[in-house]
Amino acid sequence: FTFDDHEPCSVSFNQIPWEDVTAVIQSPGIPFDYPEPHPITSIARNKNIPIITDINLLQHVFPDSQFVGVTGTNGKSTTVSLIGHVLKESRRLYGIGGNIGIPALSLTSLDKNHTYVLELSSFQLEISKPLNLEVAAWLNITPDHLDRHKTMQDYVAAKERIFLNARHAVIGIDDEFSLQVYHRLKENRKSVISISSIQASDIYINEGIIHDNNEPVIDLRLIEALQGSHNYQNAAVTYAVCKLLKVPVNQIRNAFCTFKGLSHRQEIVGRLKNIMFINDSKATNAEASVHAFNRFTSSAIYWIAGGALVFCLFALL
Ligand code: ADP
Repeated sequence: FTFDDHEPCSVSFNQIPWEDVTAVIQSPGIPFDYPEPHPITSIARNKNIPIITDINLLQHVFPDSQFVGVTGTNGKSTTVSLIGHVLKESRRLYGIGGNIGIPALSLTSLDKNHTYVLELSSFQLEISKPLNLEVAAWLNITPDHLDRHKTMQDYVAAKERIFLNARHAVIGIDDEFSLQVYHRLKENRKSVISISSIQASDIYINEGIIHDNNEPVIDLRLIEALQGSHNYQNAAVTYAVCKLLKVPVNQIRNAFCTFKGLSHRQEIVGRLKNIMFINDSKATNAEASVHAFNRFTSSAIYWIAGGALVFCLFALL
């Protein structure tokens, strides 16, 4: 049975032969707990029927594959794409999917030797059974989606589930909530790599250069698609993940140089005389926009914003 929140249901929930149902696969768009569980979620819970996600199903089908999960309030798609780009350039078998818009189950043509790089939202993590991840990567967390998670603590707790069954943890620690998560991780597990631009950490970015073990390893300053402190964070997390996947540092560096960036994320869409037009329509929360503004030194910025999903267009004079 497939139920769609937007369509009237042709079958009553009671007509479902529940005794034959082995699992309910819940879409992340459907409320799990807040504001209130979907009726099917409640019935499944009462009947002790496992509730899982498509990501769980993918892992069930390919239990021996290597999985990488990436979460964070901002920068997930850029980081997942950059990891995918590094794996492609280093001739690894890989697939990217999940919240980035490529359904996890459409990756099933890949065989078990592939590395799956999955973008994981808080909604997916809240519902998923603990995921077996070779590397779990966390970029940042700032208030967002509180219409669905009720409190910031709930939002952090949903995202923190990414680490439950992960072999290695990589975490950006440049906001207060992420730093708390980092301290919790350090108490409980061996492999945790911290990433920062503002404080001492295992991998840090200083003046646009990634340092590992206090050694400069990759200079990001001339890579146009990776400019801005937010992209430095994305690049440093990618560096840490790819190193854990045993990609040699020179291959990571070379791949960064050929990364083109994603559409709608601080994308330069045109230049007219001394005016630059930038599409940043994927900046759908305040934090993302702050990073976009900070990237530019000129104060002559015209910002067009609006909509439930904020649509932004900067014109930099
Ligand atoms: P997500 O998939 O998490 O929504 P994206 O990579 O699509 O993130 O980027 C969305 C917007 O967030 C971009 O337009 C950019 O302005 C901003 N952004 C990207 N990376 C970061 C980051 N690490 N920290 C804060 N903002 C970021």
